[in-house]
Amino acid sequence: MCAQTITALQTIKDEAFYADLVMRHSSDAVVISDPERKTLWLNPAFTQQTGYTLDDLRGHEPGTVLQGEDTCLNTAREIEAACNQRREIRVDILNYTKTGEAFWVDLRVTPVYDSTGRHTHFISTMRDITERKRLEAQNEEMRHAEELRQSERQLLALTSEWLYSAKSFEELLMVIRRAMHTLITEADGALYIYNDERTVLELVASWGTMPEFDVHIMPDDCWALRRGRAYAFGLRPIEFVCDHVSRPGTPYFCLPIIAHGETIGLLHIVFDGFEEGGIMRKLRDEVLRNRWDISLICAEQISLAVANVRLRQELHEKSERDPLTGLWNRRWFNEHAKRQVAMAQHAEKPIALIALDIDRFKQFNDDHGHEVGDLVLSEVGRLLSDFLPETLSSCRLGGEEFVIICPDMDETMARAQAEALRREVAKLRLSTAGRVLPHITVSAGIGVLGRDGKSLDEIMKAADTALYRAKAAGRNRVVSQIKVDGEAKADQGGKPEQSVVPKKV
Ligand code: GH3
Ligand code: MG
Ligand code: MG
Repeated sequence: MCAQTITALQTIKDEAFYADLVMRHSSDAVVISDPERKTLWLNPAFTQQTGYTLDDLRGHEPGTVLQGEDTCLNTAREIEAACNQRREIRVDILNYTKTGEAFWVDLRVTPVYDSTGRHTHFISTMRDITERKRLEAQNEEMRHAEELRQSERQLLALTSEWLYSAKSFEELLMVIRRAMHTLITEADGALYIYNDERTVLELVASWGTMPEFDVHIMPDDCWALRRGRAYAFGLRPIEFVCDHVSRPGTPYFCLPIIAHGETIGLLHIVFDGFEEGGIMRKLRDEVLRNRWDISLICAEQISLAVANVRLRQELHEKSERDPLTGLWNRRWFNEHAKRQVAMAQHAEKPIALIALDIDRFKQFNDDHGHEVGDLVLSEVGRLLSDFLPETLSSCRLGGEEFVIICPDMDETMARAQAEALRREVAKLRLSTAGRVLPHITVSAGIGVLGRDGKSLDEIMKAADTALYRAKAAGRNRVVSQIKVDGEAKADQGGKPEQSVVPKKV
């Protein structure tokens, strides 16, 4: 043998030795199989990874031994197809050890050809990536949880925007119903608000599928109201059911609604779907804890929104009320009287206006002072509110001038009403600082729909003209204008103490 051949043989021997070294000490599992994928050889790392020896696998296709019930079928098919086409393939696949433990591998199957191009073997290398997959799954879970939190935050922000834009209490309740149902999908709920006397809480809104919320809750029947803080039932080992709860075994939350430091209501949330046979206990607790946090935020948002709507309503009411007398002001009159006249006209129903003015009030002010004058104005205002039926609306248009809207009243009824009122004012006995004040009187003019016109302006003008005539006729009287031959005419006879009614013509 020549030296050259010896060197070449030595090289081959070295290479085989090194290859053997790599195969034996590689941390990746390696399987060599024939073109039919029957196992011929495997390295120690394979046995370490899977628990299978060559004796277990010899003559078997590695995949059929290693794959199990949760292995992705599509991935298995992909490998099969690649092998059939003698194509290299690299995939992540779930395998099982000999003892049945699942583990993830990064698998690469490579077809090997000899110098003539004949396919002789497959070499499969497998790297254990279970830890990487676990971290990936954990990350995915965290990402999902974050996404969920994000969408909850967005929904909460959107909800609070809606809550704050509610103009009326009814609108607010509509938003609350929708929002609560969307935010806490697995729960039914109800909102209760204290009655004016604060003796009982009244049901004002409910959502979900549970029909049996009590219409009233006594404040003492609720742990949250008694303890003055939010209460969760179903999360702790020792807890007591509120008396107002209709299903004692069901988890629920009670959250006080607080506006301007005062408890004004209760948000009651019931997790009806979590009863026996429902969601798993551990998962149930996790969901409840998460919903508890959201519910606290909701109760806070609802509290602020209720306070906001109340403030709005107060401001709105104030903007339409005369502060001295508590009667509607000109702004309210302008907005509502026109609508009431139009409605009466449409329904072909009568409507009348009484224009009322205190007699010689300037003189009264001069004699007794402006403050005493104010007292008179507020007393007349009180009398208008107390004496007149609720269906009538009394307004102070300015100064000592009032107007009363009388829906469903024809001329006769309005005149009788004005007359009764005139008498009541004349009967008023006012005193201040121990001083008895002189009688005050009022004059009134009547305007009615139809006889005096079709619009508010026309009726108002007629009432004013009648009032003017009442003044001219001596005051302390009621005049109802009638038109004769196209001319406005009022009766002016009678004693000052008597009201003036139109003569029949
Ligand atoms: P008449 O019988 O013709 O109605 O005479 P009058 O003096 O009542 O009528 P006039 O319109 O001349 O005067 C109205 C007076 O009402 C003038 C003003 O001193 C008084 N007045 C208007 N607004 C107020 C108010 O808010 N408080 C008080 N105290 N007086 C007011
Ligand atoms: Mg006057
Ligand atoms: Mg006047």
